[in-house]
Amino acid sequence: MKIEKITIIGGGPAGYAAALYASNFELEITLIESDTLGGTCLNRGCIPAKYWLHVAELNHEIDNSKDFGIEITGKNIDWKATAQKRLDTVNKLVGGIGMLLKSKKVNVIEGWGAIKDSNKVIVKTTEGKEEEVSTDYILLATGSKPREIPNINVDGEFVITSDTALSWEEPPKKVCVIGAGAIGCEFASLLNDLGSEVTVVELDKEILPGLDKRTSGELRKQLSSRGVDFKLSTSVKNISNKDVNFSDDTSDSFDCVLVAVGRAPLTENIGLEEIGVNVNKGFVEVDLKTMQTDVENIYALGDIVYDTPQLAHVAFAEAISAITHIATGESSPVNYKAIPYVVYTRPELAEVGLNSEKAKEIGIKLNQAQHSFAGIGRALLQNQNKGIVKVYSEEDGPIVGASVCGPSAGEMIHELMYMVGWEALPSEASEFIHAHPTLSEAIGESLLSLNGRGLH
Ligand SMILES: Cc1cc2nc3c(=O)[nH]c(=O)nc-3n(C[C@H](O)[C@H](O)[C@H](O)COP(=O)(O)OP(=O)(O)OC[C@H]3O[C@@H](n4cnc5c(N)ncnc54)[C@H](O)[C@@H]3O)c2cc1C
Repeated sequence: MKIEKITIIGGGPAGYAAALYASNFELEITLIESDTLGGTCLNRGCIPAKYWLHVAELNHEIDNSKDFGIEITGKNIDWKATAQKRLDTVNKLVGGIGMLLKSKKVNVIEGWGAIKDSNKVIVKTTEGKEEEVSTDYILLATGSKPREIPNINVDGEFVITSDTALSWEEPPKKVCVIGAGAIGCEFASLLNDLGSEVTVVELDKEILPGLDKRTSGELRKQLSSRGVDFKLSTSVKNISNKDVNFSDDTSDSFDCVLVAVGRAPLTENIGLEEIGVNVNKGFVEVDLKTMQTDVENIYALGDIVYDTPQLAHVAFAEAISAITHIATGESSPVNYKAIPYVVYTRPELAEVGLNSEKAKEIGIKLNQAQHSFAGIGRALLQNQNKGIVKVYSEEDGPIVGASVCGPSAGEMIHELMYMVGWEALPSEASEFIHAHPTLSEAIGESLLSLNGRGLH
């Protein structure tokens, strides 16, 4: 039997997951990476960002331990040690991916990959040579880069993006964050917990556009009460020297401006135009049942895919879907209706499926119920009893969405993800019992209410 060859361009979550999953089948696998294995997620995204958030939360816990009668004096932050621990963590994970790929016999080539034709990829190696790889399938997983704004020059020093911010040794004292999406809000939360003064500017009238307005508003109120200054329905007109001029005719000076307005796909100079793969606003169009582009042996995965969430776990799922199709011929589509979305602020905000606004857009009528963390014993004893759980079901139908703003929301959302994914009815879901005292009791209480009979 002929062993088929697959060639993956890009070694981030989409690309390395495709390579690892492909090793379950009889496939010869080549992975091309121009920078560092692990991509944005391990090197410039999820992992370093969550590391900073963890350090910030630790700092907050130490500063507030006196609420529990534990007084800590002489606190000192050794920023060099903090930075070293971040680098060690990233290096350990990147090294782990390298070892896993080696153990699965994946041929990793360091260099820039581009499609030559539907069965050939050209690699400009890091040593300056050109290598041609023959292949049966090509998987594009080239990822994304920070999006920039036309009138604002990212100089990498005063005006920066998350790429630079995550390798700060010490956070700046006064920061203007442009954009209140997940990345902007996470930076606002962590900078505030580390003692910086933060202003967040957002064009929309609420933070986290697209997410549940009620839970996003709850998060905004909590961050505001901690001192984060939100300028909603506002944009940055221009920046001169260290002064930022806003569209509401106010201005302020900062130590740093962090541009966090989304991610642009990296799809230039990889041979897409030549081969005729459909591109929409820079993103690659695919058949979401298989992840195939309109050239049938070329697939696309991860952040470059048009109109799917730019998340590492979505990239993993798309990689599994594409490899399943290549190896078995069967389509195993990603369930985009039940993707958990987590904003790792303090407190966290997590969502799955539909919310009121999305349902209104597509004309679906929803029932909803909510429960506050205020009376949840576990939350109260942890001093974290602000926030709410919201659950949604179709009128006389299954649970279709949920949004949580509160402690450990990013873990709790997975219980709700199964309900949405399996289309559980409120009457079925509300039969199950939540352990006491846990934070998840807030979900149990919401489900009882959604079923028409609340308890507390
Ligand atoms: C600050 C920040 C925080 C984030 N936090 C989270 C989070 O908490 N949870 C979450 O799910 N997602 C998070 N993300 C998003 C997540 O990082 C991305 O969704 C994920 O990395 C996408 O994976 P990918 O493989 O598609 O692309 P990438 O991770 O961008 O990887 C693409 C890789 O391809 C390589 N490459 C590009 N072109 C070529 C070429 N021509 N030849 C060879 N190699 C090439 C690049 O060097 C890169 O290594 C965050 C992102 C940022 C910026």
